[in-house]
Amino acid sequence: MLGLMQDTPLLLSSVIDYAARYHGGVEVVSKTEAGRIERSTYAAVAKRARRLAAALRGLGVQPGERVASLAVNSARHLELYYGATGAGAILNTVNPRLFPEQIAYILEHAENRLVFLDPAFVALLEPFAGQIPSIQGFVLLCEREAMPKSSLANLMCFEDLIDAQADDAPWTPVGERDGAILCYTSGTTGSPKGVLYSHRSLVLHAFCATAADGMGLSSRDSVLLVTPLFHVNAWGVPFSAAMCGAKLVLPGAALDGESLYNLLRDEACTFSLGVPTVWLGFLDFISAHGERLSLSSLALERVLVGGSAAPRALIEKFDWLLGVYVIHAWGMTETSPLATIGTPLPEHAKLERQARYDIQSRQGRAIYGVELRIIDEAGLELPADGVATGELQVRGPWVLRQYFKADEPAVDADGWFTTGDVARLLPDGFLQITDRSKDVIKSGGEWISSIDLENAAVAHPEIREAAVIGVPHPKWQERPLLLVVPRPGAAPAKEDILRFLANRVARWWLPDDVIVVPELPHTATGKLLKTALRETYRDHLSRADIEAN
Ligand code: AMP
Repeated sequence: MLGLMQDTPLLLSSVIDYAARYHGGVEVVSKTEAGRIERSTYAAVAKRARRLAAALRGLGVQPGERVASLAVNSARHLELYYGATGAGAILNTVNPRLFPEQIAYILEHAENRLVFLDPAFVALLEPFAGQIPSIQGFVLLCEREAMPKSSLANLMCFEDLIDAQADDAPWTPVGERDGAILCYTSGTTGSPKGVLYSHRSLVLHAFCATAADGMGLSSRDSVLLVTPLFHVNAWGVPFSAAMCGAKLVLPGAALDGESLYNLLRDEACTFSLGVPTVWLGFLDFISAHGERLSLSSLALERVLVGGSAAPRALIEKFDWLLGVYVIHAWGMTETSPLATIGTPLPEHAKLERQARYDIQSRQGRAIYGVELRIIDEAGLELPADGVATGELQVRGPWVLRQYFKADEPAVDADGWFTTGDVARLLPDGFLQITDRSKDVIKSGGEWISSIDLENAAVAHPEIREAAVIGVPHPKWQERPLLLVVPRPGAAPAKEDILRFLANRVARWWLPDDVIVVPELPHTATGKLLKTALRETYRDHLSRADIEAN
């Protein structure tokens, strides 16, 4: 017998309609390229998104067709999230930090009809966009007066486009299983792959992400959205914040420590989120200038960190310097992204600080809806005993089933998606990522976790960032090599670093060499680019002088 409740579809348009109706006056604040603060509200965002939906229909964009964005975080980009999907189209958010060849590949593969972009990215597109056959026009996310001169064909202004439309233009009717947003994986090898989220998957993800044991968002929060709108739906926050009427602060392109600090202070932000590299820069700024800043006036309570492992040193610093609780989360493009979130359990309330940091350093617990397991090389499930490590698999209603335009499912017959991460599951439900499977260091038949070694290294007071890679070794197959970026003005010595690590990791884990470098390569989403490092240093330990040791 079927249940007798209403089958209201879970649509993104219902989320912004709710925000406009019940939290219409709540601010959506954007910082422009020129550093100006622009203030909008959920009511205005909803009206402008409806106008945009009508304009897209007017331009002939059909339900299911793709339009792209190439833009930083701003109210216009948010309007595009709701306006494009409200027209039944699919918004393909493209990361402008990718190489031009990758951007061209994505725009073409997704068969985008229009590209919405910030004026800052015009020069990036001009050399190749004309060669992509599906693209019929470009829309600049700016005021009429700010329209630049450009060779891009059929160039339109966002404001002109929506001007002629009505505030109450209807949404295009769509089904909850229809595609809404398309993101491509940043993949360090091979072509980027498209992950197509549905309205339903995004709304369900937003519900669970908003919950108290998720990000714990509410109408009392002011959220600084550091995570880009082009990176996995900014971790769902554009929907989660609207769902509960949290104030949204969109920082634009300036993500340096001082700019973030000023926004946190001026907009009374209580919650923020971003990748570790952004927060390392922020904490450097706070450490260097803390005395002249009125840190106690910040309203910031908690920061969600994910995308790469949050170093323990970062968790500690947030606590010492600002009394801010770091919530460590894990996920990936294929998981929308939130799969695990590190909110504490009741038994953690009594822990002293160091033990609490241990818990926070883990990647959190599965949120409702997500199932996790680890498997061995034969594909057999391993116990969640905190000891066994294996390849992490995941499944759930906001986990990918098949890549865009792929012929085959990306999951096994039971729906498990293999993540490419190596992990340990603890009996209390916490997840501990030990590596990407490609980054694990296999030394004499044993595995060394590059993440654990990096975390130990960045606890050193003179080290700002660290990368550990496995390099071929004549005797041990692979051995760890540590590369470190010193803090400004510091010059850490190799022996000193090794002595420091000797107290923190097993002896046989100690890196065979330490190299001090001015900077480390990162991917377009801020992760360490270890493929490039492995290429550069592959012969480092096979030289005869090291062999002799
Ligand atoms: P992306 O699809 O670009 O978001 O990358 C997803 C990958 O980032 C995951 O498969 C992990 O390897 C890594 N990652 C994300 N969050 C964490 C975390 N908290 N700790 C360690 N690795 C993470």
